[in-house]
Amino acid sequence: MATIVVVGAGFAGHTAALYLGHHLGKKHEVVMVNKYDYFGFVPSWVWVGTGRMDPQKTIIPLKPVYDRMHVRFVHGALTEIHPEPEEQFVVVQKADGGTEQVAYDYLIIATGPYLNFDATPGLGPHTGNTYSICTLDHAIQTRDAYLELVQRLEKGDKAKIVIGTGHGTATCQGAAFEYISNIHKDLVRRGLRDRVDLVFFSNEPALGDFGIRGVTARYKGQLVTSAEFVEAVFRDFGIQWEIGRAAKKIEPGRIYWEDMDGNFGETTFDFAMLVPQFKGHGIHIAVKGPNGEDLHDKIFNAGGFVIVDGIYGLPYERLERNPDAWPSVYQNPWYPNIFAAGIAFAPPGPISVPHTTPNGTKIAPAPPRTGMISGIIGRIVALNVIDLVKKGRMTHDERMTEMFAACVASVGDSLWDGSAVILVVHPVVPDFRRYPNEGGRDLFVTHMEMGLSGAWMKFLIHHTFMYKFKGLPGWRIIPE
Ligand SMILES: Cc1cc2nc3c(=O)[nH]c(=O)nc-3n(C[C@H](O)[C@H](O)[C@H](O)COP(=O)(O)OP(=O)(O)OC[C@H]3O[C@@H](n4cnc5c(N)ncnc54)[C@H](O)[C@@H]3O)c2cc1C
Repeated sequence: MATIVVVGAGFAGHTAALYLGHHLGKKHEVVMVNKYDYFGFVPSWVWVGTGRMDPQKTIIPLKPVYDRMHVRFVHGALTEIHPEPEEQFVVVQKADGGTEQVAYDYLIIATGPYLNFDATPGLGPHTGNTYSICTLDHAIQTRDAYLELVQRLEKGDKAKIVIGTGHGTATCQGAAFEYISNIHKDLVRRGLRDRVDLVFFSNEPALGDFGIRGVTARYKGQLVTSAEFVEAVFRDFGIQWEIGRAAKKIEPGRIYWEDMDGNFGETTFDFAMLVPQFKGHGIHIAVKGPNGEDLHDKIFNAGGFVIVDGIYGLPYERLERNPDAWPSVYQNPWYPNIFAAGIAFAPPGPISVPHTTPNGTKIAPAPPRTGMISGIIGRIVALNVIDLVKKGRMTHDERMTEMFAACVASVGDSLWDGSAVILVVHPVVPDFRRYPNEGGRDLFVTHMEMGLSGAWMKFLIHHTFMYKFKGLPGWRIIPE
């Protein structure tokens, strides 16, 4: 009997656990270790953050799902890995205060991002200066602050709201774009839009870069760039933008930034939601040998992300010309029974063109691994582990330079007058070898659209995925 331990019940790990439970759970042991006792549908926290969705509608208690899917649930945080063949166990700090050693034959690390607010002094909800929607607690806190601001606006106040990224190498610009669009829509609905200056503040080199080097696609029969597309949306909504800026320090009501030319400046705000730099949780996880040796460097890179089968260390000019540098099976090279999925795996480098200012500050969006990408990787890794257990060899692989992704960013939540931007890209990471055009992507598939149908799609995505993640009948036919 094999034991497979998955750590992290997000898009990647929870998807992996469902497949593993379904295929192996009855004959083998599948264990899920997660910090929280619920799965959170992160994309809908944008709606929680404007008070348009009940937080309870975005979470699924894990234990009942795993009981049905033959997965043992351990509620706690992974703190140590002992990966050498004579040991192979993890240490979990349990939510009830105890610790547990869990032995494994295969380990899947899917711990998502560590929100590194400390990389920008003064950033984050704990400082009281800026808000976040990256965890459910943060989204609820942000909602409360936003609704308080709305009350002040109703009394006649004016305000400046800044939404975007809080570090030169932050990612998740898509979530910031969606949040600012939802705030715009909410303020219009409340008749308060004219009392607010809305500013999108981002480290992207161009609007619509989204950390994936922007998108060139057909829109209404013409080739357009995502920069042109997002600019048109922002002009229409009266949203101003400040891009190519690294937030260096935050003080109450003030962002101190540096731009791509190395100039320094300040942006004031009354309310700000800024996404922090992401690191990997590996920065807090110890990796030890049988005699206490430190083996951390074999599993995690300096940023705490799991080293897998990518080609690391290539300069950007070589990386962008080598689609095979991106990992295909997400397997650790030192310990072939350890895999990573979702944001936890270390990408070989940025997708957006990196930039360093004359003062040495990096302003370069880190590569996103969105929910869909994380789910796909979770499935690939799970199917390979199932293969290894049953046949002794892996048969699944998919690089981000081959992967298709769709992103739907809502503008409000109404099915009658709402809207959404739909971005379909193939591949996620440009492959200039296969698609030697300006964007490095398949122009037949890559597509941008905006309209009411997108609002319906976003609504359906929420409900369909909540269904899938409950592991209810037919969950496997719903694609990641
Ligand atoms: C506001 C917002 C909106 C977004 N909207 C979209 C969208 O519309 N579409 C889209 O595709 N993507 C969207 N994304 C991105 C998407 O949410 C992420 O890409 C996705 O959640 C990543 O999945 P993951 O499984 O890698 O990590 P996560 O979903 O973060 O899951 C990681 C899990 O691991 C747990 N964990 C961490 N450390 C430990 C530990 N030491 N021990 C045990 N458990 C641990 C965490 O608690 C968490 O449950 C959005 C992100 C944000 C913040």
